[in-house]
Amino acid sequence: MTLELGGHGLSALIPRQLFAADPDLFRFDGKQRTADYNFCPSNPRALQLLKINAARFFAAFPEADVYHLWADDLRGGGWCGCERCAGLSASDQALLATNAVAEALAEQRRTASVAYLAYHDTAAAPTSTVPHANVALCYAPRPRSYAYGIGDSYSAVNSQYAAELAANLATFKAVGRGGNTRVFEYYLDGLLFKSTIPPLATTLRADLRHYCAVGVHSVQALLTADRPYLVAPLNAYLFARLAWDPDQHPETLLSTYTGVRAPRSPEVLRTAYTLLEQAWQPALDFRVDEVPTRLPPAKSADEPSTTRQQPARGLKIVVDPPTDVLDYMMAPRPSSEFRLDQLHTANALLATGAAQWPAILAAAHTANDHLSAEYAEWQLASLRLRYLAARQELFVLAQRKAPKQQLAAAQSAAQAALDALDEWGRQHLLGARAHVQYGLLRTLDQLHLDYNADRRAWPWQRWPRRLRRVARLGWLYLLNLR
Ligand SMILES: [Zn+2]
Repeated sequence: MTLELGGHGLSALIPRQLFAADPDLFRFDGKQRTADYNFCPSNPRALQLLKINAARFFAAFPEADVYHLWADDLRGGGWCGCERCAGLSASDQALLATNAVAEALAEQRRTASVAYLAYHDTAAAPTSTVPHANVALCYAPRPRSYAYGIGDSYSAVNSQYAAELAANLATFKAVGRGGNTRVFEYYLDGLLFKSTIPPLATTLRADLRHYCAVGVHSVQALLTADRPYLVAPLNAYLFARLAWDPDQHPETLLSTYTGVRAPRSPEVLRTAYTLLEQAWQPALDFRVDEVPTRLPPAKSADEPSTTRQQPARGLKIVVDPPTDVLDYMMAPRPSSEFRLDQLHTANALLATGAAQWPAILAAAHTANDHLSAEYAEWQLASLRLRYLAARQELFVLAQRKAPKQQLAAAQSAAQAALDALDEWGRQHLLGARAHVQYGLLRTLDQLHLDYNADRRAWPWQRWPRRLRRVARLGWLYLLNLR
């Protein structure tokens, strides 16, 4: 077992309050030096500061095997465009900085390593910087599709990520540093999948077989949520079993799982999960032009990644709400129309899946809290899918310039699907904190629906709604701080 520690902490090693005294430590955004994100990795004083402050971090936590000191969590546009950095890609800039902290670690402990994060704008392999001896590649393909394995050519989205992983591995292997490569995965990420975790038995198996075949050393699964899960997600069990042996068959694993969870009706529970996995497939199988997190690459060397558009921050999100994986409602035609057709295929599967549950619950030995909680999680996964379909319908109708009445009906239907998610939270979540965090993510969902309503509204109709959302976000934020 290895212990890994850290996160997006790299820029904190260059304290922002140094900006007034030494602005050249910080990045050049194309117009001026700014302390907003990261720093200038070509500045020798910045590299020296990184080493000093990283050494303190390593000394404070001497027990870890792998330290993660990643750059700021951005899709792109957070690196430096100064004269010395201009010829360096985001990946090369990030690796320069990671090499500096790796040197500091080598002075303390030669056996530990520092992760170099290949993610969003650093996903492409570095070309001009050679990784230090104790740098471990850590590849995080967050905007990929979970409908298929990462190495599966059915998904054009995934092909791109598999190719980037291969290129990174080749770069690291060429200098003898591919042996401790990590992949950072999202099978348990309640933010990516929007509060719910779709069963991913088939994808998990395909992924782990691929990662194993290309020589990845370890695969990790990020666990985040906007609320406490009522039961451990099925993927946690599947991931653990498949990480041990990726050749096991998903159906066998699912049978073992349901045999323990529902000993009197294992087949019925297995059917319910299989149907849910099938229902999610078309929602996860998005196309390249439906990936909102991938900003278009810079057009030329004159336009470095630093000038790319950033998502709105602070309260501006009320006007320009952020989009993430699965927020493909703004995709162009014909992808948007195709996605709508695909999402509608889920309805029949969900209805059949829901019909299994009364038998599962009735067959339980006694009042079984675990199974009831499992049912509630299944329902949320179903409600989320229905919301995705209703929202897609609304945006596609707007794209088609459908008549006013039809649009109003679609807006109400999408709102009802979102309200059903809110109602689920009221019924199943315990504790004020869980409600606040669940409410924050639901408010982002609400902003997407508002965004569509705003497009058809007069300015004076928009502002009262926006002010209500600002008040709600502010209120939830304050409650969250308590
Ligand atoms: Zn620079």
